[in-house]
Amino acid sequence: MSHNSDVLVVGGGPVGLIFAEEVGKRGIDITVFEEHQEIGIPSHCAGLVSIKGLARIGVEPPSECIESTINGAEFYSPSNICFRVEFKRPMAFVLNRMKFDQFLAKRALCSGVKIFSGRKAVNFLKDRNKIAGVLDNFDNEFRSEITVSAEGATGQLVEKAGLDPINRSQLIPAIQFELCNVDVEEHIVQVFFGKKYSKNFFAWTMPTGKDTARVGLGSKKQDNYEKLETFVNERFRNAVRTSVRTGFIVTEGPLKRICTDNFLSVGDICGQTKPTTGGGVVLGGIGANIAANAVMKSIENEDTKHSALRRYYERKLHDKLGREFFTMSATRKILNSLSNDTLDKIFKALVSSNMMNEIDELSDMDFQSYAIKRTLQKIMKRNVIFSVIMDMIRNFFFGQT
Ligand SMILES: Cc1cc2nc3c(=O)[nH]c(=O)nc-3n(C[C@H](O)[C@H](O)[C@H](O)COP(=O)(O)OP(=O)(O)OC[C@H]3O[C@@H](n4cnc5c(N)ncnc54)[C@H](O)[C@@H]3O)c2cc1C
Repeated sequence: MSHNSDVLVVGGGPVGLIFAEEVGKRGIDITVFEEHQEIGIPSHCAGLVSIKGLARIGVEPPSECIESTINGAEFYSPSNICFRVEFKRPMAFVLNRMKFDQFLAKRALCSGVKIFSGRKAVNFLKDRNKIAGVLDNFDNEFRSEITVSAEGATGQLVEKAGLDPINRSQLIPAIQFELCNVDVEEHIVQVFFGKKYSKNFFAWTMPTGKDTARVGLGSKKQDNYEKLETFVNERFRNAVRTSVRTGFIVTEGPLKRICTDNFLSVGDICGQTKPTTGGGVVLGGIGANIAANAVMKSIENEDTKHSALRRYYERKLHDKLGREFFTMSATRKILNSLSNDTLDKIFKALVSSNMMNEIDELSDMDFQSYAIKRTLQKIMKRNVIFSVIMDMIRNFFFGQT
């Protein structure tokens, strides 16, 4: 059996759905393939998404998707020094990602997008060496003018398009527990640094209600399940665990080549996440919007070649996010090399700085380069600089500090 559409998207996650809606509402025939039976299931995300970021990508989640509204955060150092930030207004939502993705799917359907769930794209169809659609797991052929990969962190197809996928050895395995019976501040998220819980990332607590929370951590080279159990036993003694989920966090930064003739990739699969935190709903959503404009232009101009897609997509994305990605990637690399001692010194400097006076200017959770620069200026006391440099040197020559 053979089907046709102008554009075909592999992956019904948030990024694929945002992209599809943008294209669908402009009257283009577009189809989304999602390998799972239901959109949004399984969910592997902590769900923290900034309100400003959602506005940037034109998405206003309905109240049923919102588990809690966040107006501050507590950051903990390895020896438990706490740096607390609190805003007068709500800054972010903790979203129920299953409901959020299903809400995005509904929006896409209402814009004329066709969604085929329970259908996996297993290979590309080729026409004179160009990608001309996909073959699904039932051996059906779906032909399209442009094919888009929004497969997420573990996608397999991009390589078959001749593009490099994200470096799998750089993915950070993560685990999350849903907890009830916990004592949490409903509007404050918590982030825990240090090797005790995570060798090369961090642990987190997201309140999802009055006495419920989603806790998690990411790290390579350790038993994450055991570490998260230790974290819960230490921090939430009476907690009852209601579910466990795992996933892969992308922090390596964006790939350079993300399109070829008749094909482009978007979202986690090409590194469109914040390298500092792995958050990808907003940056992937921005990527999806730029990609949708690029596809529209290519179709209008009847030029879907690599050169056109690169001009409209790769370059525009670089103009919009290049500096942010660069700064956040550098920050992630430095953070990865810091010892517990240096992290403690940084926290001491943070607590004694007057950063809270300018906190409103530093409040962009997605475009973080300004906040990173100001934080560095505030904490760069001599002993801190020296420790950071020594850690980086040690890390470079001898591996993990
Ligand atoms: C533990 C964890 C916590 C996170 N916390 C946050 C957070 O708090 N805030 C935030 O913004 N981001 C967070 N993220 C990142 C966020 O989940 C991703 O950035 C976001 O989901 C990316 O969306 P995507 O559409 O690119 O990929 P995905 O959400 O992974 O969606 C890809 C979809 O494609 C489907 N698919 C793959 N291959 C095929 C195929 N061949 N055929 C058909 N379908 C296919 C998959 O089934 C999947 O549904 C977290 C990630 C993890 C792992």
